[in-house]
Amino acid sequence: MLTQLREIVEKVASAPNLIEALDQLVVSTCRAMKTDCCSVYIADHERQQFTLMATQGLTKPHYQIQLAFGEGLVGLVGNRAEPINVADARHHPHFKHFPGIGEESFGSFFGTPIIHQRQVLGVLVIQQRQRREFDESEESFMVTLAAQLAVILAHAKAQGMWPDQRDGLHLIGSAASTGVAVARAWWDDNQPRLEQVSPASCLDLEAEQERLSIAIELASAEFRRLRKRFDSELHKETLAIFDLFSHLLNDPMLRKDLFAKIAAGDQAEWAIRQVVEAYSDRFANMKDDYLKERAQDIRELGQRLLFFLHNDDVAEHQWDEPVVLLTRELTAAMLASIPRDKLAAVVAQEGAANSHAAILSRALGLPAIMGVDFVPEKVHNCKVIVDGYRGDFLVNPNRHVLAEYNRLLKEEDELTKTVEEELGKASYTQDNQRIHIHLNAGLSADTSIAVNQGVDGVGLYRTEVPFLLQRSFPSEEEQTVQYRAILSTYRDKQVVMRTLDVGGDKPLPYLAIEEDNPFLGWRGIRFTLDHPEIFLIQVRAMLKASIGLENMDILLPMISGIAELDESKVLIERAFVEVAKYAEEQGKELKRPRIGIMIEVPSILYQLSALKGKVDFISVGSNDLTQYLLAVDRNNSRVASVYDALHPAVLHAMKHIIDTSRGLNIPVSVCGELAGDPIGALLLVGMGYRSLSMNTRNVARIKYILRHISVSEMEQLSRFALQATFADDVRAQTTEFVDERGLGGFIRAGK
Ligand code: PEP
Ligand code: MG
Repeated sequence: MLTQLREIVEKVASAPNLIEALDQLVVSTCRAMKTDCCSVYIADHERQQFTLMATQGLTKPHYQIQLAFGEGLVGLVGNRAEPINVADARHHPHFKHFPGIGEESFGSFFGTPIIHQRQVLGVLVIQQRQRREFDESEESFMVTLAAQLAVILAHAKAQGMWPDQRDGLHLIGSAASTGVAVARAWWDDNQPRLEQVSPASCLDLEAEQERLSIAIELASAEFRRLRKRFDSELHKETLAIFDLFSHLLNDPMLRKDLFAKIAAGDQAEWAIRQVVEAYSDRFANMKDDYLKERAQDIRELGQRLLFFLHNDDVAEHQWDEPVVLLTRELTAAMLASIPRDKLAAVVAQEGAANSHAAILSRALGLPAIMGVDFVPEKVHNCKVIVDGYRGDFLVNPNRHVLAEYNRLLKEEDELTKTVEEELGKASYTQDNQRIHIHLNAGLSADTSIAVNQGVDGVGLYRTEVPFLLQRSFPSEEEQTVQYRAILSTYRDKQVVMRTLDVGGDKPLPYLAIEEDNPFLGWRGIRFTLDHPEIFLIQVRAMLKASIGLENMDILLPMISGIAELDESKVLIERAFVEVAKYAEEQGKELKRPRIGIMIEVPSILYQLSALKGKVDFISVGSNDLTQYLLAVDRNNSRVASVYDALHPAVLHAMKHIIDTSRGLNIPVSVCGELAGDPIGALLLVGMGYRSLSMNTRNVARIKYILRHISVSEMEQLSRFALQATFADDVRAQTTEFVDERGLGGFIRAGK
């Protein structure tokens, strides 16, 4: 049976289009099941109906067989979202007769839904003349087949081959950089690919070597130019890629190998393909993960060389208006090749929200979606919508959707203008209560003067970012320089520096850790306590960086019990004594930092009173707290709908934390995403929080919304939220309130 199943699925998956795939399916299923009839119905959710798409056994009618959702036995299967096994279909109350298809000659009916991510995509039916119920093994074969088909059909749907896609294509990817764009899509088919190059020889060796030399020269010049262009806009770490390209281009071995191939009679293109593939294979087979990843960079470099063999000038394409750049894999060079004001957004087929390119897009403030399964030829030059908040990519949207997004864009623009003047002001509620707004830094370029003048400090500096972008652990000196830079940017304000929080979804490229459950594994403080040498170097670097500035607090991530806190404090004290001596030698004094912990592992909620006298402050990490309270992986798109920081359990936890910490007199702030979400911010202030830390782009909006609502109103909202049973009710109620106050535009970004 398994072999038969596999054969059917393989045939269906390799068919050139949906219609042929479904034709294959019904024929093969009839054969495998030895049944008289097999049919497949596809759901059209917009019209709320099923359409017969393929059949083996029924007479194909001259009209389309369509059943409304709930109509006939097929509709019943769809509505119940479970299989139905009927011995005598004709006498079933749901049987619907269609003239001329010969269905009356069949007795038995077995229909099973094809479901993908809770949505019924279609119904698969087998029928037999004989009146009998299908047995258990037949049932399980069909259910298994339908489950496997669901993945194939979902893919077909993503490719735009679905009957209900009259109004354009709706594709979904990972939201890599927030923002919305409406523009024409542009697929750059001018980029040569290594795999397109075929073996070819050349006659004039000298001319061929000259071609290659010029291409290498042009590529080097391009990388120097791009590095310069990005230098003022980006963090140093993100520029490393251009340095790597230049370094590779100057590698004598690589050059020697390339020219040797030409000397042996190969055409330059073919020489590049052979040498670059050999190098990239060598890297791909290396043990070290960081070096492994460089295999792709080498291929990219080879492709740039191919490009310059045919384009001896970087004649920049002229765009009249901003475009949405479509690409297989987004690269830094590609981003730099289009002027920023001509780039509305990017959509990549490959890559994830944490890739180098995603970090670059965020640094440039460019909406981006990655991992989108689109067909370039079908999307190029089409009008598209990129929703970088949700990861939605809409191709040729209908005019209603387009109007809605245009309205949102306009609203976003207006909101940005309205709130801009908030940036420089201190944050107060409508009834003049002061709310401290801090910045979450470390993930993007947060040194913008406009923002940092208007915040009360940095509430969370994620120190792991430089660690993630380097090839090995940064030295104490390198770290000191980096931390000093951020502490001096916020010279007269407090900066909360979190010690290394790697593990989970942030594996270090140079430290391979294999774990079944990384989020429950060797993460955050668990890792650094097991590696005191790494912890001590980091804390010493932080302390050294703070000499003379005296504006640093230390925050410990992932604390699950008091022992971890005590052990960390022993190490911090050791580092303090060492650095104090170092400072003294230089005639300076080291100020003792305040020490706090993240509240993000649920166990610590029940040990808050044990923190009294041991910590100077606490900071609530609602991202992980939600993940661990709801037992839902925050990065797994399959369970993304379960992850909800407005879940009443999370809200009760937040309330417990503020009430308890106030009773204990421990200063508390929130640095998870909830604090920068308009609904979240209102509820948190309503619960009693007076200090919120958020991403740069939320600062002005949150200040604006708080300025227009009073604390007593927020208290009322939070009282309701804490009585609610469902997160959706909390969302609906708060949204309604905000809408009534004319502030509805702020709630758009969803949960
Ligand atoms: C959190 O968990 O809420 C938090 C702020 O930390 P991170 O997102 O870096 O895990
Ligand atoms: Mg966290």
